[in-house]
Amino acid sequence: MEHASQKEPSALSLTSLPLDVVYEIFSELTPLDLLHICWTSRELRRVMMSKQSVTVWMSARKVRNDVPACRSDVSEPQWAYLLFGPPICQLCGQDAPGRPNLQLTRRVCMSCLAANTIAEYDIPKHFPEVSAEMEIAKYVPSARTALVGFPPREKGLQYWTGDVQDVVSQLTKLHADVEAGKEGAQVALDDYKASRRTVMRDCLKYGAAGELWLRRDTRDRVALIRI
Ligand SMILES: [Zn+2]
Repeated sequence: MEHASQKEPSALSLTSLPLDVVYEIFSELTPLDLLHICWTSRELRRVMMSKQSVTVWMSARKVRNDVPACRSDVSEPQWAYLLFGPPICQLCGQDAPGRPNLQLTRRVCMSCLAANTIAEYDIPKHFPEVSAEMEIAKYVPSARTALVGFPPREKGLQYWTGDVQDVVSQLTKLHADVEAGKEGAQVALDDYKASRRTVMRDCLKYGAAGELWLRRDTRDRVALIRI
């Protein structure tokens, strides 16, 4: 019969420890280990998704050694889930074969991808409120259809419709504030555009590094299976 002291430490006992001790324990783990911890219990998930845990996720990337850094608009847990999460569509829960799309920062099945993306030339049709001066393409990440997972019928750049919607809503509101002469409106508009330009720079920098990493990681995994 198992003695009480020989039992595995429960999620409850872990979360009853001081947070700095929990972080110390987790500091040697990889991003995949941390994801498994998040899936273990609601309480541990809450701890790991909090802002204070960001350094643990960052050190996990270093433990794994070669995991690329994440974009400024994506949280560390989101990035870990994108790279190491199960091959399941995050929208419908069906199988999502292939690699996640790092430019669109989503792992979705072909049907959800087709239903939730629009081509660049379709943006004016879907968003008639968009004016040329908004220069939407400069502020919303896009992906080339040649990347894995895109329906072959589409050519050129594809945008996640919800991302376009978010940016259009923000820019429409901020432009309206400027036109209405609201105090600080121009600064708010400039700040928003600057934050979006940072995201776009990150897409180029970390998206490319991430794609390379994904290709290498997939190749390594296949090689392991063949051994
Ligand atoms: Zn789906």
